[in-house]
Amino acid sequence: MNKHHILYVDGHVYISHKPNNILLYNFIESRGQTFYVKDDLTNQIFSILSRPENANRTVLPEDYKKSEDLCNIIQFLHNNFWGDVIILPENQEPPACFMPICNLEGVKSHTLNDLQSITIALNGTSSLFEIPIQNQLPLMYCSPRNDFINYDTLISFLGDVPNDVGIRIIGGDLSSYPFLKEVLTYLQSRFQNIAIFSYFKFYDEYLYSLNVNKNIIIRGDEFYNTGKYVKSDKINLHFIVDSRAAYRNILNHFPEATLGLNKYVWPINLTTNSQKIRLLISFDKKTLTKSRIQLHNYFLNKILNRHFYGQLYIASSGNVHTNYNFKPIGTIHDSIMDCLNRIDENDSWFHIRNFKPCSECVFQWLCPPPTNYEISMGIKSLCQ
Ligand code: SF4
Repeated sequence: MNKHHILYVDGHVYISHKPNNILLYNFIESRGQTFYVKDDLTNQIFSILSRPENANRTVLPEDYKKSEDLCNIIQFLHNNFWGDVIILPENQEPPACFMPICNLEGVKSHTLNDLQSITIALNGTSSLFEIPIQNQLPLMYCSPRNDFINYDTLISFLGDVPNDVGIRIIGGDLSSYPFLKEVLTYLQSRFQNIAIFSYFKFYDEYLYSLNVNKNIIIRGDEFYNTGKYVKSDKINLHFIVDSRAAYRNILNHFPEATLGLNKYVWPINLTTNSQKIRLLISFDKKTLTKSRIQLHNYFLNKILNRHFYGQLYIASSGNVHTNYNFKPIGTIHDSIMDCLNRIDENDSWFHIRNFKPCSECVFQWLCPPPTNYEISMGIKSLCQ
């Protein structure tokens, strides 16, 4: 009876194939291996194997052992128990391979339940530099004006927002906002999770006395004067750095800042130092194969941007954004559902690595989604 050789790869091993490059990543062991391949047969076999409908298995041609690249990969699979070649009679079906699947049906139509946090800039400021918004830290978008958000319109806009959505309050000089007490009283009566972010320069006893999550943004050498705030573990300190020297300086004084307990270091991209910042935050591709990457993140990376999904930003002008680096989706004069319904595939919630060079890279869906660093610097990737 004729026999055929079947190559199979375990269902928990992700196969990414781009011409001449193969990545195998095992989600159970949290490690990966890349292969540079030269011959057509190996490219062809892994192109077939990586298609979801083939469920990580394919029949090999009789002369497959002539390919050194293919034999090396098969040997690696065999040695690591990640897969193998099995020989079966030709009339026998290859064994079933169970693969995890992801069902994110409906993720592109939104309800209020998709909202995770709303960041509200109560006022603008003319007294600080313009700073692009960076990942996660809701820095004030310091526009060259001094405007205040309309209190009544803001309260009406927030009327339908579920009470478990996180509310983050930011501003240039928060204490100068004429309705600060009224806003905070309203928010505390409605929402469970409220945080305020203030520049150290504008932090005062009133903000210090509030019973909310408190965050101080500290620039440059200001940290020498942070006094009691530095000692308090009830306040989060965010040090913003714009060079390697500033980064080292912070870490000399606060080595624990790298641990992210209640002290955080944030590199900031200014046009004058973008090269240095790029060096500070870029990463080595090789480290990705040693990183712990979770299966659900791999699925999410193909569909949405988990840094940005679920977040709304309200500028002091009243414009509503999903991300300050993207165009507004409405204003606080609209209803929140009208704003959510305008979020489309071009928006930050769906800004994924489907562009070059990432679309030609084997790490395309293992890499974290694009960040505000890349967007604000106008670059496509932060890898070396
Ligand atoms: S950032 Fe893009 S090019 Fe760089 S490793 Fe990730 S997917 Fe590849």
